[in-house]
Amino acid sequence: MSTAPILQVDGIHAHYGKSHVLQGVSLHVNDGELVTLLGRNGAGKTTTLKCIAGAMQPTQGQIRFAGDVTSRLATHQVAQRGICLVPEHRGIFKLLTVEENLMLGQKKSSKWQLEDIYRIFPRLKERRTNGGGQLSGGEQQMLAIGRALMNAPRLLMLDEPVEGLAPVIVEEIVAQLKVIKAAGVSILLVEQNLEVCTQLADRHYIIEQGAIAHEATNSDFLADDAALDRYLGVG
Ligand code: ATP
Repeated sequence: MSTAPILQVDGIHAHYGKSHVLQGVSLHVNDGELVTLLGRNGAGKTTTLKCIAGAMQPTQGQIRFAGDVTSRLATHQVAQRGICLVPEHRGIFKLLTVEENLMLGQKKSSKWQLEDIYRIFPRLKERRTNGGGQLSGGEQQMLAIGRALMNAPRLLMLDEPVEGLAPVIVEEIVAQLKVIKAAGVSILLVEQNLEVCTQLADRHYIIEQGAIAHEATNSDFLADDAALDRYLGVG
C-alpha cells in the first residue's frame, strides 16, 4: 500500500445558515486505506462527507484530492475526479431495474463492468430484472455500492451502509467491502456499528461537535477502552 494521502481535508468549516456545524475538521485517507469517521449523532459526520463530495461548500479550509484542490468544485466535477458518495438514503431509482440502475452509474473508463459487480454481489445478478423498489434494504445497499463502483471511484464514501440491516446481510456487506478495498479502492466509512468498523478499518477518526477529537490505528483503538468509553460510550 502506498502511503501518499489521496484525500487531504484541512481545517474545514461548514454552516447551515447560522449554525456552525463543522469547526475545523482535518483528516486524510491514504491511497488504498479504509478509514472510518465515528461519532455521536449530530457530530458532523454526514456534513463532512457532503463537503468532500462537493454537495456542500465549506466556508473555510481546503480539500485536496489526488493533488488537486476540490473544495470549490461542484458535485459532478468532484465525481469526475473519482470521489463517489453512497448516501444514507441510497438513491436507488425504484422504477428502474437493478441492471438499469447499475448502467446509469457507468463511466466508460471504469474498470468495473456489470460482470464484476455481479461477481461481488451475486444477489444483484439474481435480481437483475427486478425493479429497484422490489429490493430488500440490504439489496438496495448492494445496488447503491455497485452503482458507485460503475462510476470508477478512487475514493468511495459510505454513509451508514449497514444501518437497520439484518446481521447476516451485514456480514455479507462487510465481506464485499473487503473485496472492494482489496481491489485498490480507498474507502471513507461513516458507520455506527463499531464491530463492522473495527473489522474493516486501518484507521479511525472520532468527530465531536464538528471537530476531530481523536485519531487511532485500528489496533490502538481496540486496545483503548478509555477512548471507546469517552467518545462512543461503549468501552
Ligand atoms: P447523524 O448520524 O445523526 O446523521 P452526523 O454526525 O452525521 O449525525 P450531521 O448530519 O453532519 O451529523 O449534522 C451535524 C449538525 O448539523 C447537527 O446538529 C444537525 O442537526 C445539523 N444539520 C444537519 N443537516 C442540516 C440541515 N440541512 N439544516 C440545518 N441543520 C442541519
